[in-house]
Amino acid sequence: MKITETITSLESNGYKVSYFEGEEEAAEHIDQAVTGKTVGFGDSMSLWDMGLYERLAARNEVFDPQHCPAGLGFLDIARRCLTTEIFLTSVNAAAETGELVNVDGTGNRVAGSLFGHEKVYFVVGTNKLVPTLEDAVWRARNVAAPKNAKRLGLQTPCAVRGDRCYDCSSPQRICNSMVIHLKKMNDIAMEIVLVNQSLGL
Ligand code: SF4
Repeated sequence: MKITETITSLESNGYKVSYFEGEEEAAEHIDQAVTGKTVGFGDSMSLWDMGLYERLAARNEVFDPQHCPAGLGFLDIARRCLTTEIFLTSVNAAAETGELVNVDGTGNRVAGSLFGHEKVYFVVGTNKLVPTLEDAVWRARNVAAPKNAKRLGLQTPCAVRGDRCYDCSSPQRICNSMVIHLKKMNDIAMEIVLVNQSLGL
């Protein structure tokens, strides 16, 4: 795992990169930077692990599909997340060569990571780092997606067998799209918050 090289690659791809040794410092950084905003979450276990919903909700209007108010469902909140000023999510894998990879079943995470916000934060634990883009695609499909399917209790072959992707046709398939961020999108601020610990799946 080459953290310095990864930071250099991401910066050369147009991202701002902030590096922290632990999640507390990373959460404090985001908390200080985001105040008085509407904030959408990209259904991320990394954000959950860091307790960012509770933290940001104290000073912002926060929408998170993992925290649905009574009477509203996942899709209601996920749609609202697409029109917020700030969007926070993670990635399934990040290559040391500077690419970010996410798979998605519903599309709310990848949609929010591409357009429509003032700024997108990608919170990335070093467990997501791999050497190449090819490795990142492999990790997204064969590590992150099966773990997420298992977490959600889905009856997909990857969740049931727990070892790899079977490129299934299950109606519960959670990886109908794959977005590869080759470089920062135009006309939107994007910051990678890189944390030197394991976060998410
Ligand atoms: S395609 Fe199917 S088996 Fe493969 S990771 Fe996605 S849900 Fe699991």
